[in-house]
Amino acid sequence: MSIPFNKPFLAGKELQYIQEAINSGKISGNGGFTGRCQSFFQQRYGFSKTLLTNSCTDALEMAAILLNIGPGDEVIVPNYTFVSTANAFVLRGATIVFCDSRPDHPGMNEELLEGLITEKTRAIIPVHYAGVACDMKRIMKLAKKYKLFVVEDAAHAIDSYYLDEGKRVPLGGIGHLAAFSFHETKNINCGEGGMLVVNDPTFEERAELIWEKGTNRSQFFRGEIDEYSWVDVGSSFLPSEISAAFLYGQLECLDRIQAKRKSLWEHYMKGLGRLEEGGILGLPKHPVYAQFNGHLFYIVCPDEGWRKGLMGYLKGLDILAVSHYRSLHDSPFQKGKPASGKEFPWSDHYTSRLLRLPLYYELELSQVDTIVSSILEYAGNR
Ligand SMILES: *Cc1c(COP(=O)(O)O)cnc(C)c1O
Repeated sequence: MSIPFNKPFLAGKELQYIQEAINSGKISGNGGFTGRCQSFFQQRYGFSKTLLTNSCTDALEMAAILLNIGPGDEVIVPNYTFVSTANAFVLRGATIVFCDSRPDHPGMNEELLEGLITEKTRAIIPVHYAGVACDMKRIMKLAKKYKLFVVEDAAHAIDSYYLDEGKRVPLGGIGHLAAFSFHETKNINCGEGGMLVVNDPTFEERAELIWEKGTNRSQFFRGEIDEYSWVDVGSSFLPSEISAAFLYGQLECLDRIQAKRKSLWEHYMKGLGRLEEGGILGLPKHPVYAQFNGHLFYIVCPDEGWRKGLMGYLKGLDILAVSHYRSLHDSPFQKGKPASGKEFPWSDHYTSRLLRLPLYYELELSQVDTIVSSILEYAGNR
């Protein structure tokens, strides 16, 4: 039986809620299900303001507008991340300054950050890769010292935590702003979806204007004003109620989904431990302050050729394993820009060696066994 890398799933009442949304007579944005999704995060994680968006990309673009990022500004972004983390700020005219990965983890190396800050730096965008927290205490301290904003790219990080001297702080609740993703490949999804979290209250009012195409329609809906008008820049960042209804159906099942993902993750870890002990490949490492969410399981192959061989071997068995990001400084879009000539050895390391294994809600432990034994076979047969 073939094992895809990822598979859309229904966890609970998604379809029933979509029907309810339609029956309610309103399926455009900012309706009942949008409110329920936003409240879910406020109640469960204590986020003070949340705005559902069409994607994490949307939420990052909203953040760039909110921070008034413009030409001449520098924004520090990990080199090993998805395009949107950087592109949202490039759209405003910012110059991107890339930060290399940690040797022990694909996430940004916090030790390098201070050396990247200049007089032009306006913001740092930590990405919690694989749902594993960046060292947020250190990053927030730097931000305070240099008067910078922090926007957490929490696309992978729903229900992940930063442990601060025994206190569990949810990721997405630490930076001034944060962006979540509900794309099909993330733990909780609605096909395409995202959310902006506003932790700094000074951004709350304006975030709502930007969200509603630069109008104060949200205030109008709440009956605070008699008519709404164009008051700021913005765009169409709010998702339809159909997406929100699907998302709410998944959010209700969050604990069950997370438990399943973590059990699959642990099962991989146990099964592949032998290969790590034998020095054949690397397995995920978590800093002590990170409590993760089983977002993705990766192995670090000895080299690119080994990875390619393994991918082909698994594909022959109908198992789909995939690489991940490519160092952004080396992308065609960065050609001729200052970063293209710089060296990012650890980001390049993960670009050529990291391999993600299938991990989704409906995957079975027995299928993980199959994948693990196939990898053991490949490693032994070479
Ligand atoms: C998935 C992802 C995004 C983009 O999310 P969309 O919801 O697809 O826009 C941004 N950053 C990271 C780190 C991601 O993994």
